[in-house]
Amino acid sequence: MALIKCPECMNMVSTHATVCPNCGFPMSLVDSYNDYLGFFDSMAADVAFYVVIKRDPSINSIQKRFDIGFNKAQQCFEKLEKLKIVTAGSGQTSRKVLLSEEELYNTIFKHLDSIKNDTSLVNKYVDNFIKNAKRYLEDGNIICTKSNLKMALYLDTKNQEALYAFDKIQNLH
Ligand SMILES: [Zn+2]
Repeated sequence: MALIKCPECMNMVSTHATVCPNCGFPMSLVDSYNDYLGFFDSMAADVAFYVVIKRDPSINSIQKRFDIGFNKAQQCFEKLEKLKIVTAGSGQTSRKVLLSEEELYNTIFKHLDSIKNDTSLVNKYVDNFIKNAKRYLEDGNIICTKSNLKMALYLDTKNQEALYAFDKIQNLH
Protein backbone atom coordinates (compact mmCIF):
# COMPACT_ATOMS: atom_id res chain seq x y z
CA MET A 1 0.00 0.00 0.00
CA ALA A 2 1.47 3.36 -1.04
CA LEU A 3 1.54 6.18 1.48
CA ILE A 4 1.65 9.96 1.09
CA LYS A 5 2.07 12.70 3.66
CA CYS A 6 -1.00 14.66 4.72
CA PRO A 7 -0.12 18.37 4.31
CA GLU A 8 -2.37 19.32 7.22
CA CYS A 9 -1.26 16.98 10.04
CA MET A 10 1.89 15.47 8.44
CA ASN A 11 0.75 11.88 9.11
CA MET A 12 1.26 9.25 6.43
CA VAL A 13 -1.99 8.33 4.68
CA SER A 14 -2.91 5.67 2.11
CA THR A 15 -3.04 6.93 -1.48
CA HIS A 16 -6.50 5.34 -1.66
CA ALA A 17 -7.96 7.52 1.11
CA THR A 18 -10.25 10.35 -0.02
CA VAL A 19 -9.83 12.20 3.28
CA CYS A 20 -7.06 11.99 5.89
CA PRO A 21 -8.28 9.64 8.69
CA ASN A 22 -6.44 11.76 11.27
CA CYS A 23 -7.59 15.27 10.45
CA GLY A 24 -10.14 15.02 7.62
CA PHE A 25 -8.02 16.89 5.07
CA PRO A 26 -9.34 16.23 1.51
CA MET A 27 -6.52 14.17 0.03
CA SER A 28 -7.53 15.11 -3.53
CA LEU A 29 -5.84 18.44 -2.81
CA VAL A 30 -2.48 16.86 -2.01
CA ASP A 31 -1.20 17.10 -5.57
CA SER A 32 -1.76 20.81 -5.60
CA TYR A 33 -0.11 21.11 -2.20
CA ASN A 34 2.90 19.23 -3.48
CA ASP A 35 2.89 21.64 -6.36
CA TYR A 36 3.76 24.56 -4.08
CA LEU A 37 7.25 25.03 -5.52
CA GLY A 38 5.73 25.62 -8.94
CA PHE A 39 3.11 27.83 -7.34
CA PHE A 40 5.66 30.27 -5.95
CA ASP A 41 8.02 30.05 -8.92
CA SER A 42 5.32 30.82 -11.45
CA MET A 43 4.02 34.15 -10.12
CA ALA A 44 0.72 32.41 -9.38
CA ALA A 45 0.91 33.23 -5.66
CA ASP A 46 1.32 36.93 -6.48
CA VAL A 47 -1.57 36.81 -8.91
CA ALA A 48 -3.61 35.03 -6.23
CA PHE A 49 -3.15 37.87 -3.74
CA TYR A 50 -3.94 40.48 -6.35
CA VAL A 51 -7.10 38.72 -7.52
CA VAL A 52 -8.38 37.95 -4.02
CA ILE A 53 -7.74 41.42 -2.57
CA LYS A 54 -9.06 43.28 -5.63
CA ARG A 55 -11.91 40.76 -6.09
CA ASP A 56 -11.10 40.98 -9.82
CA PRO A 57 -10.42 37.61 -11.45
CA SER A 58 -10.03 38.85 -15.02
CA ILE A 59 -7.19 37.78 -17.29
CA ASN A 60 -7.16 41.23 -18.83
CA SER A 61 -6.46 42.98 -15.50
CA ILE A 62 -3.73 40.50 -14.62
CA GLN A 63 -2.02 40.90 -18.00
CA LYS A 64 -1.95 44.66 -17.52
CA ARG A 65 -0.99 44.73 -13.84
CA PHE A 66 1.76 42.12 -14.13
CA ASP A 67 2.80 43.04 -17.67
CA ILE A 68 2.55 39.44 -18.90
CA GLY A 69 1.07 37.77 -21.97
CA PHE A 70 -2.28 36.03 -22.22
CA ASN A 71 -0.80 32.52 -21.98
CA LYS A 72 1.11 33.21 -18.80
CA ALA A 73 -1.91 34.87 -17.19
CA GLN A 74 -4.02 31.89 -18.23
CA GLN A 75 -1.51 29.45 -16.66
CA CYS A 76 -1.64 31.38 -13.39
CA PHE A 77 -5.44 31.20 -13.36
CA GLU A 78 -5.30 27.45 -14.00
CA LYS A 79 -3.16 27.07 -10.87
CA LEU A 80 -5.55 29.25 -8.86
CA GLU A 81 -8.43 27.15 -10.13
CA LYS A 82 -6.68 23.93 -9.08
CA LEU A 83 -6.11 25.36 -5.61
CA LYS A 84 -9.79 26.40 -5.40
CA ILE A 85 -8.93 30.09 -5.15
CA VAL A 86 -11.10 30.94 -8.17
CA THR A 87 -13.82 29.05 -10.02
CA ALA A 88 -13.31 27.73 -13.53
CA GLY A 89 -14.15 30.18 -16.30
CA SER A 90 -15.82 28.93 -19.44
CA GLY A 91 -16.99 30.91 -22.45
CA GLN A 92 -19.38 33.59 -21.27
CA THR A 93 -19.10 32.78 -17.58
CA SER A 94 -16.45 34.76 -15.78
CA ARG A 95 -14.48 33.33 -12.88
CA LYS A 96 -15.44 34.01 -9.29
CA VAL A 97 -13.10 34.53 -6.34
CA LEU A 98 -13.68 31.82 -3.73
CA LEU A 99 -11.45 32.88 -0.84
CA SER A 100 -11.22 35.88 1.46
CA GLU A 101 -7.84 37.51 1.99
CA GLU A 102 -7.52 35.79 5.37
CA GLU A 103 -8.38 32.39 3.90
CA LEU A 104 -5.79 32.90 1.18
CA TYR A 105 -3.09 33.71 3.73
CA ASN A 106 -4.03 30.58 5.69
CA THR A 107 -3.75 28.50 2.53
CA ILE A 108 -0.40 30.02 1.58
CA PHE A 109 0.96 29.66 5.11
CA LYS A 110 0.05 25.97 5.01
CA HIS A 111 2.18 25.64 1.87
CA LEU A 112 5.01 27.41 3.64
CA ASP A 113 4.65 25.23 6.76
CA SER A 114 5.69 22.25 4.69
CA ILE A 115 9.15 23.74 4.06
CA LYS A 116 9.71 25.31 7.48
CA ASN A 117 12.08 22.59 8.66
CA ASP A 118 14.36 22.91 5.65
CA THR A 119 16.66 25.84 6.46
CA SER A 120 18.24 26.19 3.03
CA LEU A 121 14.84 26.14 1.33
CA VAL A 122 13.52 28.69 3.84
CA ASN A 123 16.46 30.99 3.12
CA LYS A 124 15.93 30.64 -0.62
CA TYR A 125 12.22 31.46 -0.26
CA VAL A 126 12.81 34.42 2.05
CA ASP A 127 15.39 35.86 -0.36
CA ASN A 128 12.97 35.43 -3.25
CA PHE A 129 10.08 37.01 -1.39
CA ILE A 130 12.17 40.04 -0.44
CA LYS A 131 13.49 40.38 -3.99
CA ASN A 132 9.92 40.18 -5.33
CA ALA A 133 8.71 42.72 -2.76
CA LYS A 134 11.31 45.24 -3.98
CA ARG A 135 10.39 44.66 -7.60
CA TYR A 136 6.66 45.06 -6.91
CA LEU A 137 7.33 48.22 -4.92
CA GLU A 138 9.07 49.71 -7.97
CA ASP A 139 6.06 48.72 -10.09
CA GLY A 140 3.73 50.41 -7.62
CA ASN A 141 2.04 47.09 -6.91
CA ILE A 142 1.63 47.53 -3.15
CA ILE A 143 -0.66 44.50 -2.78
CA CYS A 144 2.09 42.16 -3.95
CA THR A 145 4.81 44.09 -2.11
CA LYS A 146 2.93 43.51 1.15
CA SER A 147 2.06 39.87 0.47
CA ASN A 148 5.68 38.99 -0.36
CA LEU A 149 6.92 40.70 2.81
CA LYS A 150 4.27 38.93 4.89
CA MET A 151 5.34 35.58 3.44
CA ALA A 152 9.01 36.39 4.14
CA LEU A 153 8.12 37.32 7.72
CA TYR A 154 6.04 34.18 8.17
CA LEU A 155 9.11 32.07 7.37
CA ASP A 156 11.61 34.32 9.15
CA THR A 157 9.83 36.34 11.82
CA LYS A 158 12.91 38.35 12.76
CA ASN A 159 14.13 39.20 9.27
CA GLN A 160 15.37 42.77 9.68
CA GLU A 161 15.14 43.77 6.04
CA ALA A 162 11.55 42.54 5.73
CA LEU A 163 10.50 44.10 9.06
CA TYR A 164 11.95 47.46 8.06
CA ALA A 165 10.35 47.41 4.60
CA PHE A 166 7.00 46.23 5.96
CA ASP A 167 6.99 49.04 8.49
CA LYS A 168 7.67 51.61 5.75
CA ILE A 169 4.90 50.49 3.38
CA GLN A 170 2.29 49.71 6.06
CA ASN A 171 0.18 52.78 5.25
CA LEU A 172 0.43 52.67 1.46
CA HIS A 173 -2.44 51.32 -0.62
ZN1 LIG B 1 -4.15 14.78 8.19
